Amino acid sequence: MSSVTFSGVTKRFGTDVYAVRDLDLDVADGELLVVVGPSGCGKTTTLRMLAGLEDITAGEVKIGDQVVNDLSAKERDIAMVFQSYALYPHLTVGENLGYPLRLAKMPKQELRERVRTVAGQLQLDELLDRKPRQLSGGQRQRVAMGRAMVREPKVFLMDEPLSNLDAKLRVTMRSEVAELQHDLGTTMFYVTHDQVEAMTMGHRVALMRDGVLQQVAPPEELYRSPANTFVAGFIGSPPMNLVNARVATSDSGDRQLITGTAAFTIAGDTARPESALATIDERPVVAGFRPEHVRLDPAGTAGGAAATVRLVEMLGSEHLVHLNIDGMDLHGAPHDENAATSTRVLAKLHDDDTTVRLGDHVAVSIEARHVHLFDAATGERIT
Ligand code: ATP
Repeated sequence: MSSVTFSGVTKRFGTDVYAVRDLDLDVADGELLVVVGPSGCGKTTTLRMLAGLEDITAGEVKIGDQVVNDLSAKERDIAMVFQSYALYPHLTVGENLGYPLRLAKMPKQELRERVRTVAGQLQLDELLDRKPRQLSGGQRQRVAMGRAMVREPKVFLMDEPLSNLDAKLRVTMRSEVAELQHDLGTTMFYVTHDQVEAMTMGHRVALMRDGVLQQVAPPEELYRSPANTFVAGFIGSPPMNLVNARVATSDSGDRQLITGTAAFTIAGDTARPESALATIDERPVVAGFRPEHVRLDPAGTAGGAAATVRLVEMLGSEHLVHLNIDGMDLHGAPHDENAATSTRVLAKLHDDDTTVRLGDHVAVSIEARHVHLFDAATGERIT
């Protein structure tokens, strides 16, 4: 058994810093769970409590069936990989890999076997006699992984293990780590601030803010049904457009999203039962729509919100179009009476659809099935 359970876990530093509040979170046996969130949200503290490096103020942490609150880090049968790798510079790769086993006084023959197996799994066979300084960043990272693997722990704990690598290597390594975890089947608790890393690697993703768990779900669900405006604004790149709005019916009977003095046409079937658009009254909401779901009509007709193209960014197979929409009430934007009321919406278009140019006037509409509605007061999703 190597599941992990946090039940009502709180960590307070001093009298008033709540790093983690009343956390309930399960990690299934063999699962790769990624904890993500902005700096200071409490993810490292959560990992450190699981590791036994931080006392728990309240609540209970279990590994398998065992409550580990009072067990030392050594007694927990976990292995950690940090951002800094913490390899011993004077030891060779082979010695670094074998170090935890030597500490555990494993017989030499068995130790050598284990090191050889892990080196093979990580393609480090050829590098066993090198010192860490003779390795690339990616190779060092693999040695750090290997050193965690040789102990065959119940749980891997990873704290931003890829953040010292350059962007390209990070992409390669994240699939390597995910594949390795899949092959080994060892439960992994993985902390990162990078939502793309979280979304691509995690079987499930737990998103935290100010010490509070906001949502835990498979990546697709976080993307499709964010639980609140914070999750909506954090997940996705670029993130969801969020506007203060109300849903109304126009004179011609179309459903519209009114935001400030601007109005978006909602295209498609607004009466679908899964859409809150069908039933919502005129009460204030926060409406969200992802850049990839914004429709642009270059003819500027179709009754959409009138927008001006301010920037077109090339992303490869897609273009990111920055739109100015007069009078729109952007959620989270500072309310300044004197500021110009026009604010920006992002649209992501496939190459084939990209006929818009800088300065064009276009009409913006959104497909009904892609509109997310949140309560204006609480920020919680309305379903
Ligand atoms: P980052 O991504 O920047 O590492 P994080 O999400 O991992 O952030 P934590 O390091 O867990 O966040 O910190 C959570 C909160 O607890 C922060 O407000 C931090 O300042 C506070 N904190 C962390 N460690 C201590 C400590 N030893 N003493 C006092 N406050 C602490």
